[in-house]
Amino acid sequence: MSTVAIKGWCPGALRPMQSGDGLVVRVRPYGGRLDAAQAAGLADLAECYGNGLIDLTSRANFQIRGVSDQGHLSLLDGLAQLKLLDHDPEAESHRNILVTPFWGIGDDTRSLAAELEQALAGSGLALPTKFGFAVDDGKERVLAGASADIRIERGRAGGLLVRADGAEFGRSVTRGDAVSVAVALAEWFITSGGTSGRRGRMAAHIMAGARLPDALLGRTEPAPTIAVPRPGLCPLGAMVGVAFGQLPHSALRLIAADAQGLRMTPWRMILAEGARTMPRGADLITEADDPALRVIACSGAPRCREALADTRTLAAALAPHIAADARLHVSGCAKGCAHSGATAITLVATSAGFDLIRDGSPRAAPVMRGLSHGVIIENPSMLAGGR
Ligand code: SF4
Repeated sequence: MSTVAIKGWCPGALRPMQSGDGLVVRVRPYGGRLDAAQAAGLADLAECYGNGLIDLTSRANFQIRGVSDQGHLSLLDGLAQLKLLDHDPEAESHRNILVTPFWGIGDDTRSLAAELEQALAGSGLALPTKFGFAVDDGKERVLAGASADIRIERGRAGGLLVRADGAEFGRSVTRGDAVSVAVALAEWFITSGGTSGRRGRMAAHIMAGARLPDALLGRTEPAPTIAVPRPGLCPLGAMVGVAFGQLPHSALRLIAADAQGLRMTPWRMILAEGARTMPRGADLITEADDPALRVIACSGAPRCREALADTRTLAAALAPHIAADARLHVSGCAKGCAHSGATAITLVATSAGFDLIRDGSPRAAPVMRGLSHGVIIENPSMLAGGR
């Protein structure tokens, strides 16, 4: 019998979460990459033991959806054969590491990520489930806007640093001590009370006044950031977007068909390593200006049993009406699973219709309440108000 996690935990493979369409089984690729055989095998497992749908999460993981309690054990066997399964749930929950997809052969990225995975697995640290790490050690940072609490980055002069999320500067480190300093920072987070109360995240802990000890304090300015990449060909392969971050198993096979491997990103895009042409498919976003890039929507009804409305149909219909520099988030309830931050326009389903929020998160105060699906579709210009 499978172990079903308490709602609110981040699901894993060993601790799946129950959703409206069955168990959600999260698969965390080691080092943020699947080789071609793992990608094909994952698509097969989603087809055999799930409902065929696979999510891409904002933590650069896959989620196989619609798994039954009976199918879960067989799915775990399949993941173990693909070498995609941790030994125990604790090791799995600790392996919360974002990795820049733009690494090159022979640079430090993959070895840093592997060393960090190993150090965390044996650390015994009682970190909150959403607490995570980023290895973003390119000349320019690409993961600065993605969720992570401890970041291994480069400084402007090119050396490595370890930075607490929310701190302006990081501590310079050598390649040899980068991982141990990152783990020491996580230990400090716990011992200094970061896990108490409602904080649970590094930036909130620092904003609340926690002061880093001298041994972890740094004065090194991190490297500049670059904008989130768009779909299209790049020197490393094909960057492929996925509408609403969800794709059928067949689309995953399509992305992997001409690739040497798949590199995961937190932007609901996959880098098909070495691909020379863009894959084409109904669920794939292959153009940099596709309106689908302007909308975010959670699973919604009928996939999520908490949902108070269908979200994706509405978001897809509204996408062409959203300005190129704006973003629309349609959430099936106030929880905001798909995006917890602010967007230009947010629609939150309630039992009395949609609430409209401008420049806020799903939990912010609405400027209009009780909008019906029909009214919104007929008057999309009202969403932006005076814009
Ligand atoms: S935000 Fe969406 S996916 Fe999350 S619980 Fe609400 S309806 Fe479900």
